[in-house]
Amino acid sequence: MSEPKRNTDPAKLAKVADAIAADLMQSDNWGKPSSLAPKMQDIDTHQFGIAIHTSDGNTVSAGKADEAFTIQSISKVFSLTLALEMFGEKVWDRVGKEPSGDPYNSIVDLERHEGIPRNPFINPGALVINDMLHKATRNDDGKTNVRDLVNALLDGEEVGIDDEVAQSEGGSNFANRAMANLSKHFGNFEHDVDDVLSDYVQQCAITMSCKQLARAGRYLMVERADPDDEDALERARRVRRINALMLTCGQYDGSGEFAYRVGLPAKSGVGGGILAVVPNTASVCVWAPGLDDYGNSLLGTEALARLSEKMDWSVFGSLSR
Ligand code: GLN
Repeated sequence: MSEPKRNTDPAKLAKVADAIAADLMQSDNWGKPSSLAPKMQDIDTHQFGIAIHTSDGNTVSAGKADEAFTIQSISKVFSLTLALEMFGEKVWDRVGKEPSGDPYNSIVDLERHEGIPRNPFINPGALVINDMLHKATRNDDGKTNVRDLVNALLDGEEVGIDDEVAQSEGGSNFANRAMANLSKHFGNFEHDVDDVLSDYVQQCAITMSCKQLARAGRYLMVERADPDDEDALERARRVRRINALMLTCGQYDGSGEFAYRVGLPAKSGVGGGILAVVPNTASVCVWAPGLDDYGNSLLGTEALARLSEKMDWSVFGSLSR
């Protein structure tokens, strides 16, 4: 049985997005801001934005969809994309594909698995991916760092970097440094730890708005590929695999709960953003800087749960089609 198309009617989407934004602004629990940097700690948590880019090229937004925030761990989707483009399946010799069940900044599992992080979306995994990308060159003229990739995904629009956030994280990055060193101890880290950490901190401090992230995430939608075009097929397969990891590992130890409530592949960051994918249908970004106990945006998650329900977008099956 072929799957009927999901609803992407821009008028309905706009109504749904406006209603979610208006409703969430009435919430009395906004979560806690990240303690990563003083500047982030002081942020007004009473803010919300949403942007949706559909496969038919429409953009719908509501709330503070133009407000820029640091993308933090959402950058791990882009770094994984680069690593898979450059090294293919070899990536998985050095990083696992399993949910960790631990917080994003946990080191405990790394010793048990002899320096091989559980997945690329927790900090130890992202650091090993950054080690692969550090100094890597490619012969197809493609991008080698996250900022260049993101600029290209935005058709040349330049994203910023929040130096203040980067510097305060750089100074207090002891746990990340320990993870990278432990991987190095087990022979799974090639370059100088501080050099790689600097790449990582820079990509986390990239600033983007919901509108920009939803646009940059369009490539994650999985496009139908011509069966004779092997490159296009490989790109589509890669995107499906990234989505699989976003679904199972994208919200750290909150991934199961998120899949249960929202039913979409997604990646969060402690800046309060979440990039979610509705395969073949839409790329969505929500932002609300207050976090839940897992470090995922509290109201961002709620917004995606409502959007998925109202648009009948869950990847686990349709209630109406
Ligand atoms: N830069 C943050 C860190 O390394 C990113 C964490 C996150 O967004 N979950 O701790």
